[in-house]
Amino acid sequence: MKIFEQIESEVQSYARSFPRVFNKAQGEYLYDEDGTRYLDFLAGAGTLNYGHNNPMFKEKLLEYIHSDGITHGLDLHTKAKGEFLEAFNEKILKPRGLNYVMQFTGPTGTNAVEAALKLARNITGRENIISFTNGFHGVTMGALAATGNSHHRGAAGVSLSGVSRMPYDGYLGDDIDTTLYLDKVLSDSSSGIDKPAAVIVETVQGEGGINAASFTWLQELEKVCRKHDVLLIVDDIQAGCGRTGTYFSFEEAGIKPDIVTLSKSLGGYGLPFAVVLFSPELDQWKPGEHNGTFRGNNFAFVTAKAAIDCYWSDDTFAKDVQMKGRYVKERLEQIAKEYGDGNFSTRGRGMFQGINCVSGELADKITSKAFQNGLMIETSGADDQVIKLLCPLIISMDNLKAGIDILENAIREVCAKEDSFMEQKKYFDQVSLAS
Ligand SMILES: *Cc1c(COP(=O)(O)O)cnc(C)c1O
Repeated sequence: MKIFEQIESEVQSYARSFPRVFNKAQGEYLYDEDGTRYLDFLAGAGTLNYGHNNPMFKEKLLEYIHSDGITHGLDLHTKAKGEFLEAFNEKILKPRGLNYVMQFTGPTGTNAVEAALKLARNITGRENIISFTNGFHGVTMGALAATGNSHHRGAAGVSLSGVSRMPYDGYLGDDIDTTLYLDKVLSDSSSGIDKPAAVIVETVQGEGGINAASFTWLQELEKVCRKHDVLLIVDDIQAGCGRTGTYFSFEEAGIKPDIVTLSKSLGGYGLPFAVVLFSPELDQWKPGEHNGTFRGNNFAFVTAKAAIDCYWSDDTFAKDVQMKGRYVKERLEQIAKEYGDGNFSTRGRGMFQGINCVSGELADKITSKAFQNGLMIETSGADDQVIKLLCPLIISMDNLKAGIDILENAIREVCAKEDSFMEQKKYFDQVSLAS
């Protein structure tokens, strides 16, 4: 449609990868105006863990709207907020032995990160924050300073300060434990790294290329933070809400972050919603210090509570996600082995996995091909070289298989073409050398 070219800004991104006009969605499917159906392995970049228009949440939301429930209430106590807090405390926090208070920020992930960093700085009186290579934490100034990606950082227009970058797990190779380096620089008053207020980390880096930190690395990171009296912030905006097979992505590592950010799939229905969780003794905010007009989205309270009630009342859903995660891993490993010429590798955890195609150009060809065949799937990483599987967690096994089949076929086709191109090139190189 012309209107998008006419007046929508060039800043568009996902729309470029999937140039259609979409008008309907249900579960793991998206439909365009021509009625073409796509399997959605992008799922709002991890916002639609429970699928599009989840019928159970929709019913609750419609009931709420019909009853003239509060839509906007600043940070007033509303019934919907109270019920969400109750459900979150009873079914998410208590069973996991987590004792957190909850701050409602503006409804985007990046605002939750801003609040987390601000809180850490205010409590400790220190400015510096440690973040990691390839980390992504959002694009407002404070969060952007903690983000690695030069494309995003470059748009800031001011210097992004107050953050020191450290190598993430695996950044220097599999054998190097980068927490040793962190411990060293924090122990050395001449390292040039100011003592930080906090370390902010993703347990699996989503935008940075599905890099999964090992549990030992996360445990060592927690130890280093404790040793140096530095707060540990886990940015669980993409990896949380079940994506890795547990509600919080850090559960399996057995760590207890001081501060946690959640957004994306928290609202459940694709509604904007973000929170910061922190230990009660860290709750040193003064009233209204971090405010905002849209703090706590009442529609999202309703759907977020529905998501907790429907999927997190016992461990059935988590087990199902873990089982699907094992299937994805098996398939991706087999695909990497079969087509990658020894260069492809798999990465990630649970239903948060990817296949590293080394070349961004190649990954782009593969995802374009997949889209032609009815699969929406995106890339991530420094060169967009990692194809990331981020389908709704509620996807049926048949559709999970069907989606990966489409991906496998796309990889086979594209790699076969590349091979024949390389062979032709070799042939012509030889011919021109000989002449
Ligand atoms: C998406 C994301 C953010 C930013 O969330 P927005 O809602 O886009 O502002 C922050 N951290 C992580 C890990 C994310 O994946």
